[in-house]
Amino acid sequence: MTRFTSSSRSSPRIAIVGSGVIGLSCAWFLSRDGASVTLFDAAEPGRGASWAAAGMIAPAFEAAMAKGVHPDLLEFCIASAELWPDFVTELEASTGRTVGYVPGPSLAVSCDADSDLELTWLAAALRQSDLPFSTLLPSEVGAIEPALTSEISGALQLASDGHVDNRLLVEALIAAVRKSERVEGIFSKRISDIDALKRDYDYVLITAGWQSGDLLNGVKGPLPVGGQLLSLPQTEQCLTTTIRCGDLYIAPKTDRIIIGASVEPGKVSRETSSEIIAALHDRAAHICPDLRGLPMLENWAGVRPAMPDHAPVIGCLDQGTVFVATGHYRNGILLSPKTAEMVSDMILGNKVSTLVQNFTPDRFKIGV
Ligand SMILES: Cc1cc2nc3c(=O)[nH]c(=O)nc-3n(C[C@H](O)[C@H](O)[C@H](O)COP(=O)(O)OP(=O)(O)OC[C@H]3O[C@@H](n4cnc5c(N)ncnc54)[C@H](O)[C@@H]3O)c2cc1C
Repeated sequence: MTRFTSSSRSSPRIAIVGSGVIGLSCAWFLSRDGASVTLFDAAEPGRGASWAAAGMIAPAFEAAMAKGVHPDLLEFCIASAELWPDFVTELEASTGRTVGYVPGPSLAVSCDADSDLELTWLAAALRQSDLPFSTLLPSEVGAIEPALTSEISGALQLASDGHVDNRLLVEALIAAVRKSERVEGIFSKRISDIDALKRDYDYVLITAGWQSGDLLNGVKGPLPVGGQLLSLPQTEQCLTTTIRCGDLYIAPKTDRIIIGASVEPGKVSRETSSEIIAALHDRAAHICPDLRGLPMLENWAGVRPAMPDHAPVIGCLDQGTVFVATGHYRNGILLSPKTAEMVSDMILGNKVSTLVQNFTPDRFKIGV
């Protein structure tokens, strides 16, 4: 992968506020590209939304874009999905860890009138995109995933949509940045004064997830959108493919099966509701009956950072010293390598992907 070559420039000092998947990926790319990096986190690194997520790397789902979603989000998702194989190879080689990356395919299935409609809409949107997909007969779905109910009425196989174990991913990123000679450390500190950091570092990068708004000057911050999930043990006869059915997903990892997720605007509490968790389990068991009898391993809640157009803000906030990369909403795992590439190129003055121009914070300036 040609990206990770050391720069010959002198080493700028960069403070990163927030050590989720976005802050950690940026730290790793920046340090590999020659910068000196220091990370801060108010809590345990990597335990925010990045830990709570389901780890789907699913650009195809952004093709069926709802009204108001950023028109270039799909292009961003596709560009980032393309970086994943090299991103994983480099990270695993650097740390000696595995992150459970599977490049695809995933299945989108329907089993009632609502999900039939959504599948038709997704297929129509995918026809307009460059993303490969195939329409499967119900009998073909059974051959791919025998654990699914015979009530499946339609399915699309999405070659572009894979998955990763997001918890293994953040642990590997933490290991990679801790190993890097150019990373001073990940310090346990809540940052509230960006100006104080500006005095000590050449650049400050804000990657504080849904809490980034407190640190942004003159730009609207992300809105929190809570999500609850549960996991069940993985068994031999259970699923290996990620299944989406409407807004429900079943995302298998090697050691567990994740089922999610609720979408709760404004919810920042990590509390879960037994009713919501039971309803998710029940809906998943309707699609995959073997899941009904399995004991729950864990249930949890996380907070997605959402901008009004569901796309991230990436760019400079002032005259060139404070940068932001946040608002990745439901695609922060997928978008992490492309975000890190853009941020590193912007801060280090390298040629930047033209895509980033469409995601700058200017579109959410307060008072404009
Ligand atoms: C239920 C759910 C399911 C999801 N599923 C997927 C999925 O399948 N695929 C996908 O691509 N994405 C998914 N996402 C979205 C993805 O998890 C997020 O977009 C991504 O994790 C955001 O990463 P982040 O680094 O910006 O935020 P976080 O991971 O939340 O990290 C932010 C960090 O900043 C720290 N922080 C905050 N304020 C301060 C401060 N003032 N000073 C210092 N540190 C601070 C926090 O402690 C935290 O560690 C999901 C999210 C949720 C909640």
